[in-house]
Amino acid sequence: MKKQSLIQKLKNRYDKAREARLVSEDKDKPFKDRVEAIFTAPRWCNTDFWCDECKKDCSGTGFRQVCTVREKLPTAWFVGYCPKGHKMVRRITDKGTDPYYEKSLMIQRQRYEMRDALLTPDDSRFRVLYPKQYKELMAKK
Ligand SMILES: [Zn+2]
Repeated sequence: MKKQSLIQKLKNRYDKAREARLVSEDKDKPFKDRVEAIFTAPRWCNTDFWCDECKKDCSGTGFRQVCTVREKLPTAWFVGYCPKGHKMVRRITDKGTDPYYEKSLMIQRQRYEMRDALLTPDDSRFRVLYPKQYKELMAKK
């Protein structure tokens, strides 16, 4: 009986330590992800930008900039300049909220193309975009 409880004690201790480790890993993950994104980004690269002044898509060389003012929240981005000299930014950290994806016309076009490529016949746009295929399908039915 005593031996049993000792084993149980050890088990409990192990479970507790494991849980604490998982919690701390979870807490550190956003920070680790940011640091990894920053260190795996090249110092400079050719990338696509959106120039807010010209309202145009623009590719060019982006230079990595890192900000560590907030120790727990390092941020990084690429800076480039459009042919007219306007500053353009692409995010390295916080990619998910990069305004580029909302503003870029090229990205919007790609989204439309993707949507059209994944179109199914029950979508009303299918009939407009693929009239021949639609007719064939209807004939089979
Ligand atoms: Zn510009």
